[in-house]
Amino acid sequence: MIAKEIQIAAYLFASILFILSLGGLSSQESAKRGVFYGIIGMIIAILATVMGQGVHGFVYIITAVSIASVIGVLVARKVEMTSMPQLVAILHSFVGLAAVLVGFGSYMDPKTHALASTEHTIHLVEVFIGVFIGAITFTGSIIAWGKLEGKIRSKPLLYPGRHTVNIIMLIASIVLGVLFTNAPGTDGLMYLYVMTAIACFIGVMLVMAIGGADMPVVVSMLNSYSGWAASAAGFMLGNDLLIVTGALVGSSGAILSIIMCEAMNRSFISVILGGFGDSSKGGEATAMVGEVTSMNHEEVADLLKEAKSVVIVPGYGMAVAKAQYPIYDMVQTLKKAGKKVRFAIHPVAGRLPGHMNVLLAEANVPYDIVMEMDEINPELPDTDVVMVIGANDVVNPGAQDDPTSPIYGMPVIEVWKAEKVIVMKRSMSVGYAGVENPLFYKSNADMLYGDAKDSVEKILGFLKA
Ligand code: NDP
Repeated sequence: MIAKEIQIAAYLFASILFILSLGGLSSQESAKRGVFYGIIGMIIAILATVMGQGVHGFVYIITAVSIASVIGVLVARKVEMTSMPQLVAILHSFVGLAAVLVGFGSYMDPKTHALASTEHTIHLVEVFIGVFIGAITFTGSIIAWGKLEGKIRSKPLLYPGRHTVNIIMLIASIVLGVLFTNAPGTDGLMYLYVMTAIACFIGVMLVMAIGGADMPVVVSMLNSYSGWAASAAGFMLGNDLLIVTGALVGSSGAILSIIMCEAMNRSFISVILGGFGDSSKGGEATAMVGEVTSMNHEEVADLLKEAKSVVIVPGYGMAVAKAQYPIYDMVQTLKKAGKKVRFAIHPVAGRLPGHMNVLLAEANVPYDIVMEMDEINPELPDTDVVMVIGANDVVNPGAQDDPTSPIYGMPVIEVWKAEKVIVMKRSMSVGYAGVENPLFYKSNADMLYGDAKDSVEKILGFLKA
């Protein structure tokens, strides 16, 4: 057992490490350091909590933590990089479920009902809000997992009058909250059950209403909700560190959601209200005009030999093919031949915020040749060749000129403005948003069909020959 003062000091130290961790994660150069701070902070946090006053049942705690750690390590080692978003979504659901269970546990705890009147009411409000946020996070994250895994269709589920239904459910929850806080003893349990069912339903509907291309915002929004759920659990348990940590996750997730909304030119408010997926103006999809032409690997290699400047736009397909390693090999070969080569990253490329940056960092691509969309777009008209590798939605010109497109209004990488565009993918099939891509039909665009890794290796072979 450690003294309360030592625990407070340890919590303060852990909080500082968590803040340094978030600071570190804000750039690729310092990300590893950020993760390290986070690990140390979490070890201190767990030890200080477990060794705190009034904690019993060490055998149970150590057994549970050991089993969970083994499962965590096995799952994290096994998971493919392409399934990482699903893993993150399901982990968010655990945070939500934990907040719900803590809420129910805290309500049934006789100590809660021994509190003085005002303190008792405040605690019940904490329980109610904690369970509410936790339940929304729990079911919302499960639906997000289903959508990312492809088990639930990505098309938004929109039904007439859904906003009215949402408002009615919100009002019903507030009424239940008032009844719950005024109920004597544990008589309010029934209100808590009903509200939990309503919140679970809101969570499902909130995410079901969001369409494919808008999923990045959902992932970051649920990240934020899971933080607030943890913070609420901290209030229920009277644990200051959990409150601080939850608030850090909640607010950084909210900031990330705003950044994602800006990247997709969507309104943050409409996302929170779950009305996000119906952003297109509707109507018939525009027919594709033009002819699709293709090249072979040798022709693409010849094109690259002639080019002075090359921009590579990676997307989800690069992650699927694990093509980042041969791509960087190709970049080094082109650079040695005196060409200017850069990567262009769209903020929502892949299936996770920062997905492409992580993959390129994994292949040791130097950060100074990795450009953001806003940096590269003005330079594309002066670029000789753009290689779109496994990307689709993030280079769709329909986002700019087709008001019927579900991704209309989303800023995209304007690859068609370059002299020549090579689109490397396996077929003509659509991307995550399920939208046809007029880029493939442009006169300066050619398809190079095949698996991205395989294609890059073949091009590299011709370049080195
Ligand atoms: P897309 O999903 O639009 O397109 C990926 C393309 O990769 C597909 O069209 C596919 O075409 C191709 N592909 C798949 N496997 C391979 C392979 N082995 N080799 C070559 N090509 C392959 O990806 P983008 O990155 O362009 O866009 C991301 C989309 O995902 C956006 O709609 C975004 O909103 C959404 N999203 C993003 C999240 C995020 O946080 N970043 C989270 C959730 C969704 P083919 O089958 O013909 O090969």
